[in-house]
Amino acid sequence: MLSPIRLVSEAAEFAARRHSGMQRKGRGHEPYINHLAEVANLLSLATAGGDAELVAAGWLHDTIEDTETTHDELAQRFGLRVANLVTEVTEDTSLSKGERRQKQVEDAPKKSAGAKLIKIADKISNVRARIAPEPTKRQRDDLADYIAFAEKVVSGCRGVNAVLDRMFDETVALARSAL
Ligand code: ZN
Repeated sequence: MLSPIRLVSEAAEFAARRHSGMQRKGRGHEPYINHLAEVANLLSLATAGGDAELVAAGWLHDTIEDTETTHDELAQRFGLRVANLVTEVTEDTSLSKGERRQKQVEDAPKKSAGAKLIKIADKISNVRARIAPEPTKRQRDDLADYIAFAEKVVSGCRGVNAVLDRMFDETVALARSAL
């Protein structure tokens, strides 16, 4: 069993290696790891550093979906709770974008408390990434569309952590003012 700091540190390095070379959509195509660092840090902030497994799962939350990583591998390295959290927030990439979004909205209320927090942190990061300094019409439409979707998912995840709920609302208010 790793100490809390060792666990988070191992998770960060593992995620950095697995997502190496990947870029994210929006905000100047930053390295993908910026998104993972942001999600992990939001989780750490919202829980005042009290849940290392949740922060580790934040670093790892896209590894099963986007890289050659399995639940068993995560369970072996980081423990069953971390692996289960990542699996819970992994989407079925065989579905179309519309189907995936629909499923996220429907499944959100059924998720564990930890998975709900990862979902909210992920949505905060994704909304922030879509806020452009001088948006084109397409960027504005994309942001408005994404906010509407994110609000539906987050409405099924609220009530676990007031700090994160508020941060999401503040992010959406900021994003709306950029529309
Ligand atoms: Zn993500």
